[in-house]
Amino acid sequence: MTDSTSLKHLPAVDQILQYPAIRELCDRHGHACVVAWIRSAVDQLRQQILAGQSISPADLSSLVESETLQLGQAEQMRYLQKVINATGILLHTNLGRAPLSDLAVERMCQAAAYCNVELDLQTGKRSRRGDRALRLLCQLTGAEEALVVNNCAAATLLVLQALAVGREVIISRGQLVEIGGGFRLPDVFRSAGVLLKEVGTTNRSYVSDYEAALNEQTAAIIRVHHSNFLQAGFVAEPSIDALVAIKRPAHVPVIDDLGSGSLVDPRHASLTSEILAKEPNVRRSIATGADLCLFSGDKLFGGPQCGIIVGKRRWIQQLRNSPLMRALRVDKVTLAAFEATAEIHLRGEAERELPFFRMLSKTAGDVRATCEWVLQQLEPVQGVEFAVEACQSQIGGGSVPGYDLESFAITLKCKSSQLLADALRKCRSTPVLCRQTQDRVLLDLRTVSDQDLPEFICTIRAALTEPDRTPAMPPGSQRP
Ligand SMILES: *Cc1c(COP(=O)(O)O)cnc(C)c1O
Repeated sequence: MTDSTSLKHLPAVDQILQYPAIRELCDRHGHACVVAWIRSAVDQLRQQILAGQSISPADLSSLVESETLQLGQAEQMRYLQKVINATGILLHTNLGRAPLSDLAVERMCQAAAYCNVELDLQTGKRSRRGDRALRLLCQLTGAEEALVVNNCAAATLLVLQALAVGREVIISRGQLVEIGGGFRLPDVFRSAGVLLKEVGTTNRSYVSDYEAALNEQTAAIIRVHHSNFLQAGFVAEPSIDALVAIKRPAHVPVIDDLGSGSLVDPRHASLTSEILAKEPNVRRSIATGADLCLFSGDKLFGGPQCGIIVGKRRWIQQLRNSPLMRALRVDKVTLAAFEATAEIHLRGEAERELPFFRMLSKTAGDVRATCEWVLQQLEPVQGVEFAVEACQSQIGGGSVPGYDLESFAITLKCKSSQLLADALRKCRSTPVLCRQTQDRVLLDLRTVSDQDLPEFICTIRAALTEPDRTPAMPPGSQRP
């Protein structure tokens, strides 16, 4: 068989479009999309033939069909969809950080229609956007005023730009941090048009350093929580109390960027509050007299992605009047989820209703019992060893770094943990994300909710019994 004979037999796009499985694909993804996939599948075969691979003309159509279906499946995997997090990292940034409560989801659905986001139903007049959410925030933190923006990075940018453009903001050298994803404080200062006034050293800074740096150019003093790393040894930096106590002109606010921002009352004794007490507390910072506090909505607050700003009326008013505010504000659906989350915190029901708090408050014994129950549901599979093992979960999201939560995992020991992890992730039922070692897959059940267990078991079964865990036609592969 010469190359040219095979090339002549490459199927026409219209012919492939007639296959029932391909028609189904068209219903789901649209004709144009599927035609493009068929063309790319035909192209791939053409390249293989030209490279000298011998392929029987009788196989060409079915090869194009299967590759097209493969491309359809790859597209399906790119859909934004629910996944099960068995990594044991509670606030996993790649998986959207805090999962939302049922109440938040319900309110988001309601707000998705027309809703009263800027309307007072009592008077029929225009209202402050997300008014109730902001009121709840004030109650929750003890602050005079509140504002919600796109995320904590946006909050930092807004505060710097609106209050300090062209002037100096004093910050300790130990706090010029990179939060992750390339978000570096010195860059944020630059893009806000604010001059960094660095004081102290990497490991130590004192109140006297801040006092010496104050001048007529000073617009603010900022403290930034380290968040994702720990400093130990010969280190010192002033507390927020000490910064607030610095004698300064009335137009120089003290800004506290808490990052994660714990809201849990430290007097309320529980395992959760003991852990969360390791992060700076928003209520405390406000009570101390910080002018503005910034923190994330999707970290320890357990809500949707947003940046929360609380503090004194005078400064919040100034932020609200900034033209940047319009660009950074959140949409009605986020506000709805946020309002529901704040409501749950105020009712004192966080540990019962917010998934993040539920996961955090599970004891190792609770997780172990769930692991054992799941194990009983799984049928033995040849070549795979099941076990339940102690492991450690992490809070994640740069919160409480270095703190390990005692937990338990189901472990699956097999020849290739990579292939099994791939199969779990690519599963056509709900994808499962795991941790892995050389020869084992670890499924930490702290981060899997009880209501997801049936789906979870379904995916494990499917991944373990898949006859061929490798893709049908990997790029550039030598097909027999
Ligand atoms: C996480 C964090 C941020 C960024 O928060 P996003 O809500 O992800 O934008 C900013 N500052 C600190 C101190 C943080 O910990």
